[in-house]
Amino acid sequence: MEKLRRITKAGLCLLFPSACPCCNAVTGDDLQPLCEVCFAQLKFIKSPYCSCCGRTFSSGGENHLCGVCLTSSWAFDRARCLFFYEKIIAKLIHDLKYSGKTQGISTFKWLSEQSNVLGDLDVPDFILPVPLHIKRLRKRGFNQALVLAKLLFPNEKRKIRHNILLRRTDTQAQAGLSGVERRENLKNAFVIDRVSELIGKKVLILDDVFTTGSTVNECAKVLKAAGCTKVEVLTICLSGKIFS
Ligand SMILES: [Zn+2]
Ligand SMILES: [Zn+2]
Repeated sequence: MEKLRRITKAGLCLLFPSACPCCNAVTGDDLQPLCEVCFAQLKFIKSPYCSCCGRTFSSGGENHLCGVCLTSSWAFDRARCLFFYEKIIAKLIHDLKYSGKTQGISTFKWLSEQSNVLGDLDVPDFILPVPLHIKRLRKRGFNQALVLAKLLFPNEKRKIRHNILLRRTDTQAQAGLSGVERRENLKNAFVIDRVSELIGKKVLILDDVFTTGSTVNECAKVLKAAGCTKVEVLTICLSGKIFS
């Protein structure tokens, strides 16, 4: 039976060789979904980065607090991103979010395993995707943060919960807004259901892009107010400022 399965798989690979989800080049390697050219263009987040918000520094040295984290406090305890927002990652996320194409997203699991930042995060009790408002969810048909959570943590399905952190208001899209406008736009946008389940718990919030951090910070505020002892954040990519 096992032999037949292997022969069938080998036959399928010959007939339908794996294609890179970014450029469609044949990779011929199921274990490495991106072709070498696309993989070489990825920018992994590497030290030194801010030990709190995860934004990177262009100068060398150890991880330390950035100027923003030294002067203002976040509601989350720590945030980490896997990659800089550049064209390869942007295409994979765009395909998922706006075109509903999912053939590239299996790549994220593999990509996350090539990154070192996951080791900075605590083991959470719950993994909570940043929610969409019900109107946007119906229009898109899925929440990309939930899809990513399931993909990055396939063995933690019981921890991934989409019914605890909810979006109460249908906020304007954050892209194109300034930091102040983003914070105003998100005021009271999130609510918690099942508060009693969160008391004393460690939570990981998951989202696709970290820009100013306003969205995940608003989520962290309500989670801390509900009694979570630790709130950490993981996003696929980091957009915006690099500190010198
Ligand atoms: Zn490629
Ligand atoms: Zn920082």
